[in-house]
Amino acid sequence: MGIYLDYNASSPIDHRVLDLMIDVYKNVYGNSDSRTHIYGENARKVVENARLQVAQLLRVKSGEIFFTSGATESNNIAIRGLRKYAEESGKKHIITSSIEHKAVLETVRSLKGERFEVDFVDPEEDGRVDLNKVLALIRNDTLLVSLMHANNETGVIQPVKEIGDVLAEKDILFHVDATQSCGKLVPELKELKYNMLSISAHKLNGPQGVGALVLRKRQYKLPPVKAITFGGLQECGIRPGTVPVALAAGLGKACELADAEYDENYARYLEKKQAIIEVIEKSGICYVFNGDQKYCMPNTINVSFLGVESEALMLSVKQFCGISNGSACTSHDYTPSYVLRAMGLDTERISSAVRISWGADTDKIELVNQVKKLIEVARGLKT
Ligand code: PMP
Repeated sequence: MGIYLDYNASSPIDHRVLDLMIDVYKNVYGNSDSRTHIYGENARKVVENARLQVAQLLRVKSGEIFFTSGATESNNIAIRGLRKYAEESGKKHIITSSIEHKAVLETVRSLKGERFEVDFVDPEEDGRVDLNKVLALIRNDTLLVSLMHANNETGVIQPVKEIGDVLAEKDILFHVDATQSCGKLVPELKELKYNMLSISAHKLNGPQGVGALVLRKRQYKLPPVKAITFGGLQECGIRPGTVPVALAAGLGKACELADAEYDENYARYLEKKQAIIEVIEKSGICYVFNGDQKYCMPNTINVSFLGVESEALMLSVKQFCGISNGSACTSHDYTPSYVLRAMGLDTERISSAVRISWGADTDKIELVNQVKKLIEVARGLKT
């Protein structure tokens, strides 16, 4: 058997989450918005318990959690849901970064045809967006700053804390795509100041197909986000459609576990990172890490084995090692990573970059063995 090292694309479901979901699928089959019978009431209890679990992980109120189908939908609602408010207020300027996930990039681009103006800030070579470059772009008509917490390709943590502190004093909305950090940077997210935040269950050992949009209230009022699809009044009308009860329960349980097990999980992520770095360093192979490791997630490494084409390496190790060279959402196009390009890295470094991402439950001995094997293959492919 091989080893799966692409947790940033999707992580395996925790067995405790799955057990709960199976129980809910079997026994709680009502519609959580049905008001006329006990079956609806039971489903509602499950959904509200899950809402509380998500809220506790993020230290917000449960009334600020809105279930969605995942972070792509959360990002779309957070951004496109502001159109009406933007028209009314005359504020149509958005600041974001050029290394956001496509779910943000394509969403803000879709607004450009509607007379919005968007500034994309490039990161520095270390993979971080410069706080001052973001702040320098603020104008009187700035509606929104949208910035990811941790980048999915490099794992580099962005200065969302500092930006959140500044924007909290201004009349500008702040959206954070926390898909990669939720459940991993637990204390940081509890302290973060933002108006809107996107998360997805399948990145934190929960099920695929469910996520949440967090809308923080200010003076008892939600941010001026409106639904972008039309239908019923579920999720207070922010996200119409029947709430998938078992999926919501799965997200809730995954959040509860991430909160309860944070300390040990963090140590387990870090221990594996140190082990991988040691293997790479000791191997003598020519390599360079992409993104400053000082700011990097404890479960991600983006590394270029110089002179080794990443496509060739990934294909050669496919049978025993599941790695990638970027976001699964863009893996069908073979153009070089837009994230690494925006960091100003040269073509050789970009074309040889691979992303390795693991979980707290990844077996360390197996990991070390497989990374050693990976490096041997890479050595053989070097031109
Ligand atoms: N944002 C980031 C940073 C991501 O990594 C991903 C998933 N690759 C998404 C958004 C989209 O998440 P989902 O798969 O839940 O739509």
